[in-house]
Amino acid sequence: MAWEIGTSVFVFASAVADSMISSAVLSEGHALLVDPGVLESEVERIASFVEARGAAVETIVLTHHHWDHVLASSRWPSARRLAHPKLEPLVLEQQANPQYEAMLRSSLPQVPAQWRLLPIEPLASRSIRIGVLDGTLLELPGHAPDALGLLLPSERVLFSTDMLDPNEWPLPDHDRELYLQSLARIEALVQSGQVEHVVPGHGWPLLGKHAVLTQIARDRSYLQEQSLTG
Ligand SMILES: [Zn+2]
Repeated sequence: MAWEIGTSVFVFASAVADSMISSAVLSEGHALLVDPGVLESEVERIASFVEARGAAVETIVLTHHHWDHVLASSRWPSARRLAHPKLEPLVLEQQANPQYEAMLRSSLPQVPAQWRLLPIEPLASRSIRIGVLDGTLLELPGHAPDALGLLLPSERVLFSTDMLDPNEWPLPDHDRELYLQSLARIEALVQSGQVEHVVPGHGWPLLGKHAVLTQIARDRSYLQEQSLTG
C-alpha cells in the first residue's frame, strides 16, 4: 500500500501505465475498489491487502473505459461493477482499434487469459454504500465521455478519474469545454469543504485543500491557453 487517507481509503500506484492508480475503500468488512490494475502481481497485492483486512470485494467502480482502468476487474468476478452507461460500448470500440494490442503490450507483457470486461450493472442510483460509508457517483466528462468520479463525503475524498493527475498535463481527449466544467465542479466541492483530498487516475493523491486548488488552477490555465492557441 502506498498511501492511506483517513482510516478507510487505501491508494496504490502501478509501476506501469503512467502510475495508474487503484484504490480500496474498506468499512466493516466491506470493500469497494476503484479501477483495480494494472499488472497481475499488483492486482494480487490489492486482493491480498483487502483479504488481510478481513474484507470482501463487493463493488468495483470503473471510472472510465480506458484499458488500464478496466481490464483487471474480472479478478473479482462476483463483485458488482459500476460504471457510466457509455463505458461498455466505448470498451468495445477501444478493443476494435487496430492499435489496441500494441497499447496493451506497451505496459503489459502478458495479459492474463481470464482478464476481460465483465458485465456492468445498470446504474440504478448514484448512491453507494460501503459498510457504514456513503458514496456518490458523479459525472466528470472531458477526458472521456464516460468519466465517473466517486465522492466519499465522510472522508472528504474525491476519486477524480483521469483528471488532476499531478504528473501530467490535462488530457481533454473528449471535450475541453466539458473538462473545464468538470474542473469547476470539483473546485466548488473543495471550496464548500466537501472535498479535501483528491485521488486522480494516475500519479499520486493530492492531499489537502491547497494541493487540490493549486492543481486545479494549473490545469485550468493550461486548458485556457490551449483554447487561445488552438
Ligand atoms: Zn484515461
